Amino acid sequence: MLKINELFYSIQGEGSYSGLPCVFVRLTYCNLRCTYCDTEYAFFQGKDTSLDEIISEVGSYNCKLVEVTGGEPLMQKQTPELMRRLCDAGFEVLLETGGSLSIETVDKRVKIIMDYKCPSSGMEKRNLYENVLHLKKTDEAKFVIGTREDYEWAKKIIETYRLFNKCEILFSTVFGELHPRVLSEWILDDRINVRMQLQIHKYIWDPDKRGV
Ligand code: SF4
Repeated sequence: MLKINELFYSIQGEGSYSGLPCVFVRLTYCNLRCTYCDTEYAFFQGKDTSLDEIISEVGSYNCKLVEVTGGEPLMQKQTPELMRRLCDAGFEVLLETGGSLSIETVDKRVKIIMDYKCPSSGMEKRNLYENVLHLKKTDEAKFVIGTREDYEWAKKIIETYRLFNKCEILFSTVFGELHPRVLSEWILDDRINVRMQLQIHKYIWDPDKRGV
């Protein structure tokens, strides 16, 4: 059993799969409390659902791309098993995680999108830096940047953990806090090879709309 907050079909808004139709499985619970969190409704609300039911509902959309997200999906012990079974069933599986819990047990077929929590999130001390050992070339490290301090911190972390050699690096802004143009200009001024990204679902639909 897993506690599921919502399961829906939408456009992938972030990362290298941005723009593609995708089924989202949002799991309940989170061990963090980021200042900019836009999914607080996933902290406690949800329905106990069997893995068979989840996989069957995912399959009903006739879409091979699936993202397991939260909340913090790795808080529930059966999440790695769900992802393994989705991979076995032929789905391409993405995992969105906050980066405070170990990714060691995640199936190597899963593409991990892992946050590094910047200072303005209030959760910087919760980053589990040893996760860097388990990142693969196909994974993505994501920095959500709200201030210049966050930006400088992100550059330092990338250098310290040699992230350019490990995986793709995503920079995005805290929505409504830092204009994407400002962050884009910082990236260009410094000539750093990161992928600037927008949460495009927040531009397609109302930024507060759930289930998209
Ligand atoms: S990790 Fe994600 S779900 Fe949890 S508090 Fe931070 S932004 Fe919200």
